Amino acid sequence: MSRTENLDYDYIIIGSGFGGAVSALRLAEKGYRVLVLEKGKRLTEKDFPKRNWNLKKWLWLPALRFFGFFRIVFFKHITILSGAGVGGGSLVYANCLQVPKLEFFRAKSWAYLADWEQELKGFYDTSLHMLGAVPNPRFETGDLALRRTPPPSSARIGLPCRSAPPAS
Ligand SMILES: Cc1cc2nc3c(=O)[nH]c(=O)nc-3n(C[C@H](O)[C@H](O)[C@H](O)COP(=O)(O)OP(=O)(O)OC[C@H]3O[C@@H](n4cnc5c(N)ncnc54)[C@H](O)[C@@H]3O)c2cc1C
Repeated sequence: MSRTENLDYDYIIIGSGFGGAVSALRLAEKGYRVLVLEKGKRLTEKDFPKRNWNLKKWLWLPALRFFGFFRIVFFKHITILSGAGVGGGSLVYANCLQVPKLEFFRAKSWAYLADWEQELKGFYDTSLHMLGAVPNPRFETGDLALRRTPPPSSARIGLPCRSAPPAS
């Protein structure tokens, strides 16, 4: 088989984060030939720095030859944080799997389109199951600090959190 014949795919997905990986899985399960393109590295345990000061291993900044996994992009009014590498955001995320409160589903801007809580419930259930969500077993320093934060900010950020168990 020639090299070009090998490049025949039904779907090409750019990015291997939560969105890309799940799409690729579901399409492959349906029998499609899927190619996932990822610009970052496939990281192994030794690729993760012990400290953030190891900028070369931590940041994704190819212009400076930094091939880590944490991408920070500065714009005038916003700074975007994301993961770069096989797994995308799952390389950097806080492992917190939250189902939004009712007010999110009933927000004016989209509530008239559907009953989003019902519409999305099955997908939240599947995600929590696939990611192996379990209740957070203990509070760490950051959690305790959040609890001490006076309302209304603590009320806004104090969503119940479930975590994915560590990968084995
Ligand atoms: C620090 C941090 C903590 C977070 N904590 C949580 C949390 O606790 N709970 C939660 O639910 N969410 C959390 N998030 C948000 C969550 O990580 C994102 O919502 C999620 O990763 C978005 O998924 P995605 O597939 O859209 O994109 P990503 O997961 O960002 O994946 C995009 C992928 O595409 C690749 N890519 C981009 N451009 C190209 C290109 N041109 N060619 C090839 N590849 C490309 C990138 O390298 C990356 O791997 C957190 C995010 C950050 C940054």
